Amino acid sequence: MGGLCEFLLPGGRSNRCNEAAPHNAGSAALFSFFLIMRTPRGVSSVVHDADYLEAHAEHCNLCGACFAACPYMDLRRDDAVQLVQLLLAGEIPCRILRQCTGCMACNAPCPQGLRPYELILLQWYRRYREQGLPARVTYALPHFSPNFRSDLVQSLDARGRQLVRRWSHSLPRGETVLYPGCNALTLPHLLDTKLLWGVTIAGRLNVCCGEMYYRLGLFSAVRRIARWLTHYYRDKDIGTMLFACPACYRMFSDILPHQFGAHFPFHTRFIGSYLRDRLQEEEVSENVPTRGAVMLHDPCHARLLPPDVGGSMRDVLRQVGVLQDGMRDELAGFCCGAASAARRLHLVDMAGTALFTLREAGQRGAGELAVYCAGCQLHFSLWRRFRPWTPPVRHVMQYLKEAVGEDPGPPVSRLTDRLAVRGLMRVLPRHLSGHSVEVEPYLPESPEWETGRCDDR
Ligand code: SF4
Ligand code: SF4
Repeated sequence: MGGLCEFLLPGGRSNRCNEAAPHNAGSAALFSFFLIMRTPRGVSSVVHDADYLEAHAEHCNLCGACFAACPYMDLRRDDAVQLVQLLLAGEIPCRILRQCTGCMACNAPCPQGLRPYELILLQWYRRYREQGLPARVTYALPHFSPNFRSDLVQSLDARGRQLVRRWSHSLPRGETVLYPGCNALTLPHLLDTKLLWGVTIAGRLNVCCGEMYYRLGLFSAVRRIARWLTHYYRDKDIGTMLFACPACYRMFSDILPHQFGAHFPFHTRFIGSYLRDRLQEEEVSENVPTRGAVMLHDPCHARLLPPDVGGSMRDVLRQVGVLQDGMRDELAGFCCGAASAARRLHLVDMAGTALFTLREAGQRGAGELAVYCAGCQLHFSLWRRFRPWTPPVRHVMQYLKEAVGEDPGPPVSRLTDRLAVRGLMRVLPRHLSGHSVEVEPYLPESPEWETGRCDDR
């Protein structure tokens, strides 16, 4: 099996696939030492990875609860324990290469409060340090130009482009500011609603929370982004920052400050509870038309955020009569597939996971799939073209806009169809080049960058 996994994983041998390696403290320490010694040029010498492995090995009781809860691998407890042992020993188990979607569900059940998902991310970090990142992957990253989001913005209608321009020039100051994040910036119609009147929306594609770098395990890049965001927001007079996307919310409220040393001078709040309050002041229709029963899909980060994040979205859908109680948790644990790319850096893994979840939703009785991450909506809509009989995907904001008498905006599939054509033309030359890149030189570092060359990207 090891040979097969080496074949499947681009870059091969250094991503060893070994199902029988023993766990011992010595091997973990050796791997930590290896990571320290391999710190490449331009990458911070703060060894978050080695520190984390050591701390993990020290506190982990090898109970296996983490990977036994994986919704994709169907592991017995002893297999789950072996998986932890392999990861601690610096191996990439074959099962991870074949089946991990990056859904992060394994983080939730750990009785020690550890983050076993990051053992997987550390393997991707090691791969990056040894081999760089294939150039084709840069089309997904916000600091490379063009990228799929900048292409999506160019494909927006006139109103959409106007909103993106306005928000990119808006000053992030005020009692309540909304950080749209790159996903909502590519679907700006979602936030074009009277429900957000009085909120300053301020953000642009390159003021990025770093989530994609985190999910690829590029910790040195996330560290750099944490530093830059700390600098960018240090003197902004913001009371509460609202987040439209659970991923951005978790990056700003948890991952960046607690793991990467960022400091932000504002309170953070997810948009769901804000909308729940706002809806009380509006006249809402409880008869938003739907094609059958609506099932709510929770994005990965929502699993690790306080329950009110998903709860507030369920509440607002109930407030407008869209959600039926029996449907609400049917898809627990299933993933849109965007993060599946991390394991082999292949589109095929993303497509497979997205289509699997759409099929499951249909088989479990969903007439429509409601999402509250614009990234999930984009990703499902892109791949649903291959299975058009599966449930259509709508964002919670689209239901709410209809409920308050507004146009929900143009169909997302129109955008993703254009992206499929344009993206292919962009990625193919990068793919054929076979080049690898280091991402750090493309990331913001110095204060001058703030008003510099990337503003209009
Ligand atoms: S990230 Fe998700 S798919 Fe991967 S091991 Fe953890 S629970 Fe399983
Ligand atoms: S659940 Fe936590 S303590 Fe148990 S094996 Fe997984 S990481 Fe270790």
